[in-house]
Amino acid sequence: MTEMTDNQTVALTIFLTITAVGVLTIIAVYLMVGMAWQDYDTSSDSASARSLAARPGPGSLFYRALVGKCPNCGIGKVLKSYFHMNSRCSSCGSVFWKNEGEWTGPMLIDFIFALGASLYTWAALVYFDCSLTAQMVVTGLIAALGGILVMPWSRSFWTMFLFVTGEMGEATDKTD
Ligand SMILES: [Zn+2]
Repeated sequence: MTEMTDNQTVALTIFLTITAVGVLTIIAVYLMVGMAWQDYDTSSDSASARSLAARPGPGSLFYRALVGKCPNCGIGKVLKSYFHMNSRCSSCGSVFWKNEGEWTGPMLIDFIFALGASLYTWAALVYFDCSLTAQMVVTGLIAALGGILVMPWSRSFWTMFLFVTGEMGEATDKTD
């Protein structure tokens, strides 16, 4: 009985820790976007600022990232399919990822999300005293599914992040 209580304490601690880290991460990302957005406002001499017309606010940027729309115009889709991205916006022509190595950022988000989701699940299974087999199988499944599930959003949010930091490519003629 005491052992189960210990397990539940550990599970609850893990659960609350991940929740706290998750909430803090969301707040940090939102503040980061807000700050980058303000910096972007003052750097009107930069090349990208000139080509980008009406600048969306942090709220609509978040919404656009959630629904997978272009951070610049909010019309074109960031994703071609679940796993593949469009290279540029079909509406305003902005290049989403101008750098080749840009996939490392979203991949890190995928990994962290998968890790968080599996730890969360594992804590719940321990709390409800599920068998060791169930703990391993379900936690593994959630890790894999979570990593795949978050992929469209890790890519659209990363694109939004590139946009606010001025790292997203501006609209170019369709030569490349
Ligand atoms: Zn666009």
